[in-house]
Amino acid sequence: MIPIAKPSIGTEEIFHVQQILKSGNIASGQTVSDFENNFATYFHMPYGVATSSGTTALHAAIIACNIKKGDKIITTPFTFAATANSLLFEGAIPVFADIDPDTFNIDVNHVEELLKIHNDIKGILIVHLFGLPCNMERIMKLVKKYNLLLIEDCAQAHEAKYNDQYVGTFGTTSAYSFYPTKNMTTGEGGMILTKNKSIYENLQRLISHGQKERYIHTQLGYNFRMTNIAAALGIEQLNKLNDFNNKRKENAKFYNNHIKNNQVKLPVVPSKCDPVYHQYTLKVKDRAQFIKHLEKNNVGYGIYYPTPLNAQPYYKELGYDPNTTPITLKVSQEVVSIPVHPLLSKDELLKVVEVINLYE
Ligand SMILES: *Cc1c(COP(=O)(O)O)cnc(C)c1O
Repeated sequence: MIPIAKPSIGTEEIFHVQQILKSGNIASGQTVSDFENNFATYFHMPYGVATSSGTTALHAAIIACNIKKGDKIITTPFTFAATANSLLFEGAIPVFADIDPDTFNIDVNHVEELLKIHNDIKGILIVHLFGLPCNMERIMKLVKKYNLLLIEDCAQAHEAKYNDQYVGTFGTTSAYSFYPTKNMTTGEGGMILTKNKSIYENLQRLISHGQKERYIHTQLGYNFRMTNIAAALGIEQLNKLNDFNNKRKENAKFYNNHIKNNQVKLPVVPSKCDPVYHQYTLKVKDRAQFIKHLEKNNVGYGIYYPTPLNAQPYYKELGYDPNTTPITLKVSQEVVSIPVHPLLSKDELLKVVEVINLYE
């Protein structure tokens, strides 16, 4: 079976992690600070704060942006649950906008409609899904016009660019994940980037029990810290991020040029977008039949995401209705992602193409 995802861990990572283990300084320390600096510098940002996961990065970002109980935030229902859950953690209210059926990203027309209907929207939490940037030109216009907070969920989009600018550098804050299936990994881990110094200082306290200095707790905080072990992995993975993403792009290009089957719709990349293909996602009408064909031929696949967030049992309990976002509902029945990760061999790429082209 050709796996849908596979982390690429080399001798550099193993050596650096061993160094940390031997040093005994395995919790959060200098290596975490180094990783934060390296990551922020890489994206030309002044401040980075490393966390224990992408979820805790999002959660801390929401608190640091002063998003509170009852605050309405527009977001997408077509994402991993952590995105909107980070709002629920704080009692904020996700307002779901529908998605664009071609890009799978939030539909800016619907965002604009919602902004006209609700006069009390405080911000917007966008996801650059599958590594494809959202339409930042139009989103930034709305952010300015309506004076919105902008939080970018970059869990799948490390190094993606819109109009030659890195995603994650447009908003008030942005959050990254380093889960093993993502474009780079630390095992579990996350990062928040911001340009705002007071948000940065707040984040530093929030992820470490609200401590301004050791054992002086000036606010309620959490233990969302990253370990030096994870950070050592992260430093080495960041050095390879560009190579990893170039490999993903090459693999995607190979699929673009060689998959020829009119049952299958290939990913759409709008102008100004430079995606990093966290996933290479197809649309097929009869997905059940298509995935049977992939399984029979030992091609791994993933369905991201089979159920929109507003159709999840506990969101329904909160009163959400997936019929408010009909495109998301339809698309969630049609998507299927095929392996695009950097460790795919030429033979594997050829096999995937051959199998898909034989599907009828
Ligand atoms: C992976 C992911 C997260 C959560 O990250 P974890 O590190 O798994 O906590 C959040 N949002 C999106 C879009 C993701 O893909």
